[in-house]
Amino acid sequence: MNRENKRKQYQKGYYKTHACDDSFTCRVCGRPVVPAGAGSDHRNHCPNCLSSLHVDDEPGDRAADCGGIMDAIGVWVRKNGEWAVIHRCRRCGVLHSNRAAADDNPMKLMSIAMKPVAFPPFPLERIEELIALMGGDGAVR
Ligand SMILES: [Zn+2]
Ligand SMILES: [Zn+2]
Repeated sequence: MNRENKRKQYQKGYYKTHACDDSFTCRVCGRPVVPAGAGSDHRNHCPNCLSSLHVDDEPGDRAADCGGIMDAIGVWVRKNGEWAVIHRCRRCGVLHSNRAAADDNPMKLMSIAMKPVAFPPFPLERIEELIALMGGDGAVR
């Protein structure tokens, strides 16, 4: 890489407009992560354990000084049906939402999605009572 390109690479906001083709070793599970297979220009989390690093303030800007490990704590579905992963930084607690990549571990994604269902905030055996309370139209009376 010549010097001009190297300088460009570390400019603030570079990754916003350029594909991120870095390879890295996941700090959490140790898996080598390569850009190929993500189905996106920005690979910002490990496809195996879904962990990320707090290096961006806005996706791809590399403006954060924190550098903490970000755990995948939730998933949600965008309007277009696309899955996104919610990451929380272990060090500073910030929350980020990132598109799920094409090769993200589907079982890991599902296990995160199922967590609230597996640990409901009320006793599961009372779900019938709750449904009865809602009178069939979804409204709580
Ligand atoms: Zn990993
Ligand atoms: Zn952080």
